Amino acid sequence: MMGGHESDRLHYTRTCEMCGAVMQNVAPNKRLCPECVKQNQHQRDQKKALATAPLHREAYARREGPRKVLAANDSIGAVCARAIAAGRTYGQQVEYERRQKELKDRGEIDKK
Ligand SMILES: [Zn+2]
Repeated sequence: MMGGHESDRLHYTRTCEMCGAVMQNVAPNKRLCPECVKQNQHQRDQKKALATAPLHREAYARREGPRKVLAANDSIGAVCARAIAAGRTYGQQVEYERRQKELKDRGEIDKK
């Protein structure tokens, strides 16, 4: 229990507003039992997490830095997606990107 020196003032018996559990030796303004407080907090956290999840993911991705993004760009899934977008097969897309990279490396086309 917190604040042992104030224990004289904590000897109240209250009933939990959510589940009706009897709580002894608690603060007079105590309304929920620890179990319901936990549940309440959990629900609030879930709601908050749900509301902010996309933002978190974006921030996380940004924090990851360019190296990880590059790896993602080179993943089979990413190449496949670009192949589909460009109307190529996966093999054609790999070949095309290799050629583009060669040209870029030689400075023949502008680097983005
Ligand atoms: Zn309760």
